[in-house]
Amino acid sequence: MASEQRPSIGFIGLGIMGQPMVRNLLRAGYRVVVRDIVAASVEALVSEGAESGGSPRDVAERTDILITMLPDSPEVEAVYAGVDGVLEAARPGWLAIDMSSISPRVAREMAERAAAAGAAMLDAPVSGGDKGAIAGTLSIMVGGSAADFERALPVFQALGKTIVHVGPSGAGQVAKVCNQVVVAVVIEAVSEALVLGAKAGVDPARIADVLQGGLAATKVLEMRRDNILGGRFDPGFRIRLHLKDLKNALDLAREAGVVLPATAEVEQLMQRARIAGRGELDHSGLVTVLEDLAEIRVCDAVAPAAGAAG
Ligand code: NAD
Repeated sequence: MASEQRPSIGFIGLGIMGQPMVRNLLRAGYRVVVRDIVAASVEALVSEGAESGGSPRDVAERTDILITMLPDSPEVEAVYAGVDGVLEAARPGWLAIDMSSISPRVAREMAERAAAAGAAMLDAPVSGGDKGAIAGTLSIMVGGSAADFERALPVFQALGKTIVHVGPSGAGQVAKVCNQVVVAVVIEAVSEALVLGAKAGVDPARIADVLQGGLAATKVLEMRRDNILGGRFDPGFRIRLHLKDLKNALDLAREAGVVLPATAEVEQLMQRARIAGRGELDHSGLVTVLEDLAEIRVCDAVAPAAGAAG
């Protein structure tokens, strides 16, 4: 019976997050049609059981549920509303789920256009990073109708662990912006603390150990300790993308009549990192901007492990 049949899924945007999310959908038994502008990303997943799609419209026509995991609002607008975009295939019964982190305003606009064609759309950005995407333990914050949320829930359960319907269309993106404010400001605070300790002559690894046992403990230091203490910043989550999230936060603050002083400062420090050619580094690479200002490298102040050679 059609109602009991597992829906097929179209997936557009096969980057750091999209690739492992598709793998989890394949593992859960879904038929998945994929697309990216980078052919190698498509080929990798086709060799693992996905099907290759043509245009965004073609992917949407061939599947029941369409998921997008794209960098930013302009890419989402192009894939949905551009020529041969997915909205050209929008039809009653079809469901689009944008899991990218974008402007809440653009999320609402795309949902309205889907609704005009009799289709449904959810905004469902995530947190948990590449590690959460690989493990299928993402936190998913969903905006849209309760009925559409219920329909998408089995798909979300293949991708994540904490799945919350936060409110109507756009509400998921508002929650994500709030999440990104916290993560950015905490990365900056951890960076300040470790640069300070290092320059004041104390091993930053010992400082990190003791911070994690008290009120200063944070998930950011737990997840990014090796990056900051080791001076290695392969992404992870790119500074360029976090900068985009902070722009969305500051735009939303202006619309809502809210003052975000710490976010504004961290946005400028991330902008400094991007201008210095570090936009593709992991966001924990923000520490390098503070290191430049203090003329010290945290990794150089870490004492060699006892018994380590060299
Ligand atoms: P990414 O840059 O690694 O991947 C984006 C993918 O989209 C790339 O493969 C790119 O080729 C593809 N793409 C761009 N334009 C396209 C188009 N027009 N048509 C088809 N494909 C196109 O980014 P990511 O790290 O996977 O992040 C994706 C989204 O998830 C972003 O909005 C980001 O803010 C969010 N996010 C990322 C993380 C993380 O840790 N990386 C965590 C939570 C949320």
